[in-house]
Formats: sequence, structure tokens, C-alpha cells
Amino acid sequence: MDTRTVLPAQRAEFSLNARPEVVALRNSKIREVANAGIGVPDVLPFWFGEPDEVTPEFICRAGIESIARGETFYSHNFGIPELRGAISAYMSRLHGHIAEDRVAVTGSGMSALMHTMQALVGHGDRVVAVTPVWPNLVEGPRILGAQVTTVALQFEPEGWKLDLERLIEALTPDTKALLVNSPNNPTGWTMGRAEQQVLLEHCRRLGIWIVADDAYERIYFEGDGTTQVAPSFLDIAHPDDRLVNAYTFSKSWLMTGWRLGWLAAPPPLIEDIGKLIEYNFSCVPVFVQRAGAAAIAGGEGTIAHTVARYRKARDYLVAELSRLPGIEAAATPGAMYAFFKVEGMTDSLSYCTKLVKEARLGLAPGVAFGPEGEGFLRWCFAASEENLAEGIRRFKKFRG
Ligand code: PLP
Repeated sequence: MDTRTVLPAQRAEFSLNARPEVVALRNSKIREVANAGIGVPDVLPFWFGEPDEVTPEFICRAGIESIARGETFYSHNFGIPELRGAISAYMSRLHGHIAEDRVAVTGSGMSALMHTMQALVGHGDRVVAVTPVWPNLVEGPRILGAQVTTVALQFEPEGWKLDLERLIEALTPDTKALLVNSPNNPTGWTMGRAEQQVLLEHCRRLGIWIVADDAYERIYFEGDGTTQVAPSFLDIAHPDDRLVNAYTFSKSWLMTGWRLGWLAAPPPLIEDIGKLIEYNFSCVPVFVQRAGAAAIAGGEGTIAHTVARYRKARDYLVAELSRLPGIEAAATPGAMYAFFKVEGMTDSLSYCTKLVKEARLGLAPGVAFGPEGEGFLRWCFAASEENLAEGIRRFKKFRG
């Protein structure tokens, strides 16, 4: 073929698509259900994982005042010293001393995870993930060409359980990283201290990185009554362990739209991630960081209020769902979702599409969280009592 007469776009090597790994990415199945609801009036949306309350006023004010002061310039790759220092002090209070040089501020929890993946994982690397899980956690390494092996949690009447032996078997010497999200989106499963200990020792022996997505560490219902925080690998790790913990301001401080998060890692990795930050987004806007610093300084009341609300919502929703024939729901120790089994449902995506069109109820299909999630639905209970009650009414009517 005479390539001079063929437009570049028509030649395979000049495809207008992205790399094969990017082309292979799946669109969000939650988004698919939400799209099916466009034009349906008065849908009750419980499909996204988002608090239903706006960011507290004192946090917004810190951002607004920062803009008013003219803080509209670039800042350090790792974040303004005030926020980095505040995060270091906050984490030290929760998990034992975490020095500032172990912290990097990022433009969301998602961005903390993606930078971690870019730093650790390359083409052909093997990573192991505990699933079902928020899809973004496993799509990150796939974008980079890594192979993701999954180990599924098991659903039992008293809740979701990890088969620790199976996970240990999957963590072979050629594994680059273990990905764990606990408290888990969508199941609420929370890894216990004994499991963390075994995994940390195993990964330490084989040189496997542990990437802990701790987005929901403060949305935890089984705390000791003082500080509500889920068990973390950080509590038992040494500063030089191959451990990265990713965090977000989105959930604990009701700041989803601000796009602010951070990660904690050993200082050499933080230095490398600093370079990636430069070439990805360079730095987070200063006014967003000021809002984050205000959240940490004055946000314990916000967290206490949110956890109390969600606990009540969880208790109500799980009790109501459990009463329905053909539904199996278990109490969840953390996060903000009920992930429940629907007897006989084999296609959660079309079930949710029907649910939104016929019952005006927006739930997330279990399959959106991996094939292991098929047969389940996710219901976000970060919602008012009235909306949850109306949702249950619609669900009952739909099931007849
Ligand atoms: N990790 C988990 C498990 C999540 O569910 C989310 C958000 O839904 C995030 C991380 C990231 O949150 P964000 O990107 O809003 O900071």
C-alpha cells in the first residue's frame, strides 16, 4: 500500500485510539445505571459513594479566605508545610509517629493511588488485590500494563470474610504489590489486626509492597469509643517497611468535590513520587490545601457526627433489608455501604437498570466491583432517614 495516499488515521500504526491497556478499560457500570436513569423523574440515588451533606462551613471558609488573600500560585510538590505538618501530626496521633518526610499531599485519594501505582508497577508486573473492590483500585495497575490477580472475600451470614490462606498462597515471590482496601468499598469488610500481622510478615519476607487504600479508616463503627479509626498496617509496621497508605479528604470531612488526598510511604519512595507529582499535576491548589488544613484542625466533630449518622443509617437499612424474603444482608464494620445478596439475581446490571426505570430507585450493581460481586447490590447509606425509608418502600414494591 502506498502510505502517502492513505491518511495516517487509516493505518493501524496511526490508530486514533490510546494504548491497548487504555482501550481495554471498562466504563463504569454504576455510571451505566445512572445514565439509564436520565429522564426518569424523582429518582432516589443511592448508587454513588458520596456523602449527602455539603462540606462544613468552617472548611469552606478557609478555602474562600485563602483565595481572598491572593493564594493563587503554585506550591511545593509535596504540599504546603502547614498541611504536610498537620497531616503528619494527625497521623501520628492515630498510628504512632509519622514524620513529615513520609507524607505527600495529592489531588485526591485516587491520585494518591495512581501515583503509587506509577511509582511501583510496570508492564507485566503481578499485583494481587482483595475483591470485590472499588474498581479504580484495580484499573490503575491495569492502565500501567500490570496483571491483576484477585482473591475474593466470602459472604457469610455474619459478614464478609477473608480466606487468609488463599491470599498468602497468591502472594508469590514474583508479586510486586498487594492491594487492600479496608474498610472496604463495597462490602464494608475490615481487615483485623491478626490478619494484618500475618500479611505484613509474609510481604516483608518476600519484598512485596503493601498498598493500603485507607479512604474509610475513620468511617468505622467498631472503634474503642475514643478515636474512631480502623486497624491500619501503619500501627504495626516499621518506617522502612514496603508499605504505602493512601487517604482522602472526601469521606471523613465531606469534601468529595475538593479533590484532596495524601499518601504515606517510606521517605525514598516519597522522593520518587514527588517527581511523579511534578509531571502529573505539580501541586494541589493552595486554597484547597488550606481547606484541608482547617478540616484536620477542626474536623473531629464532623467525623463524630458523620459516623453517628451512618451507624444509625446502616442499622436501619440492614435491618429492613434482612426482613425481605430472598435478601441476605449483614452488618458492616466500616465504610458507608450495604452490599447485599439478591436470591436468583444473575445479572445485577440489568436488575439495577430495571430498578431505576420501574421503581425510580438508584442502586449500584455488584458486578461493577468485579465478577465476584455479581449477585449483589450496593446501597450507599450516606443518606437521610426519610430517603432511606422511601428507598426501602420502593424496593419492596418492586420486588412485589
Ligand atoms: N478509595 C476508595 C475505596 C473509594 O471508595 C474512593 C472514593 O470513592 C477513593 C479511594 C478515592 O476518593 P477520592 O478520589 O474522592 O479522594
